[in-house]
Amino acid sequence: MIISKNPYNGEEIEKFEEYTKEQIDKALDTANSTFKTWSKTPFEERSKLMKAAAEELKDNKEEYARDISLEMGKPIKQSIAEIEKCAWVCEYYAENAEKHLADEQIETEAANSYVSYEPLGVVLAVMPWNFPFWQVFRFAAPALMAGNIGVLKHASNVMRSANNIQKVFERAGFPKGCFQNLVIGSKKVEDIIKDKRVKAVTLTGSKPAGSAVAAVAGKKIKKSVLELGGSNALVVFEDANLEEAVKTCVQARYQNTGQSCIAGKRLLLHKNIKDNFLKQFIEEVKSLKSGDPLDEETYIGVLAREDLAEDLEDQVKRSVEQGAEILLGGKRDKAYYEPTVVDNVTKDMPVFKEETFGPAISVTTFEDEKEAVELVNSSSFGLGVSIFTENFDFAKKLVPQFDDGAVFINELVKSDPRLPFGGTKESGYGRELSEHGIREFVNRKTVYFN
Ligand code: NAP
Repeated sequence: MIISKNPYNGEEIEKFEEYTKEQIDKALDTANSTFKTWSKTPFEERSKLMKAAAEELKDNKEEYARDISLEMGKPIKQSIAEIEKCAWVCEYYAENAEKHLADEQIETEAANSYVSYEPLGVVLAVMPWNFPFWQVFRFAAPALMAGNIGVLKHASNVMRSANNIQKVFERAGFPKGCFQNLVIGSKKVEDIIKDKRVKAVTLTGSKPAGSAVAAVAGKKIKKSVLELGGSNALVVFEDANLEEAVKTCVQARYQNTGQSCIAGKRLLLHKNIKDNFLKQFIEEVKSLKSGDPLDEETYIGVLAREDLAEDLEDQVKRSVEQGAEILLGGKRDKAYYEPTVVDNVTKDMPVFKEETFGPAISVTTFEDEKEAVELVNSSSFGLGVSIFTENFDFAKKLVPQFDDGAVFINELVKSDPRLPFGGTKESGYGRELSEHGIREFVNRKTVYFN
């Protein structure tokens, strides 16, 4: 049995009977047979349906958002924004997929030579709970527009949202089987990846989950994309516009109650501006309103599960034992963890070297750009980095020195349908979104006429 529980009040929301072997088999059969027709459906038709999915999301955003907030504690305004962003990615691919996947002529000595992009088939998506809709839509919109079929194994604590996503595609009029949610726990994933009807897998989640899934895919020589954890740095240089940087850094760390892979988790401050910056930063953090996720005024909700809040509390405690100092927050009440600022953090402390998945930021001081770059790159993750400076020439010189998948200047690292998204090192491989994302799950077929 899979159970959705409200992390704010501990109440059970809904119970879901796990799919039996037969039900999984039937779902994969439906997916596989739908591929035969869906892959031949013209872009125009796919695009019409994807636009209808966007409309469905916009028309019923309150309904979908409420379930997100109930299941994983996201403040309702942020849940609504998530649904709106999903509508955006549907519209984006409805308008651009055909262009992204058009034949690409390549001049050779042949009479005609080109690359054509063709769908692979059924793709399994293993997804996390932190953006229960967005993580799935940023996979599903390009995958379906490319002519693939999606089957979803969602995180066990957001199964109602998972069913809602299937509902969005059904209500939009997609053929039955284009997108199905499998009500299963993670133990069933291995057999599904091994199944002949499944051609590829994408996983967004933690390193252990990514590594387990990629190992099975590797054994079966199936394509995989991994979007894993992150520990992004926010680097504030001496010449930064401090007022703007403070606002952006607060949002980068505390939105979604800190539960984002691309959140700015490590604040790196130049020694000359540290005191001034921190004073403003702490004032801003104090103004964030904690409360009931369903209250529109709430900015900080609860963590998605109580054990996640306990993990964060433990990371902060272990760092304090090693010499870190809590400047703000640090207390937990069940699944709620206070917005927290931890100073005097060094590279070997848990809040620096591990991913902190909640509203706690680590603060480390640097002397010069060399030390700043070294601190950023010392993380085992490589999702993204934000740097704050008024000197664009200086910023441009720094960009190639970072290992990460993204560098944002004077902005928090964010995903945007128009830009590729993905990491390096233990943050995973492959890209989502933009033309790069839609080309992950296609056969790039070389065609040569002599
Ligand atoms: P998680 O525990 O790794 O779970 C993610 C998904 O993988 C869930 O559906 C989970 O199912 C499944 N899973 C777990 N272990 C598995 C295994 N051994 N084999 C197959 N499937 C398995 O991660 P989470 O706690 O939900 O999410 C938080 C993590 O995701 C963080 O590390 C965060 O940084 C990362 N994340 C990355 C991105 C990105 O784009 N790079 C975006 C968002 C989140 P169950 O729920 O049934 O266990």
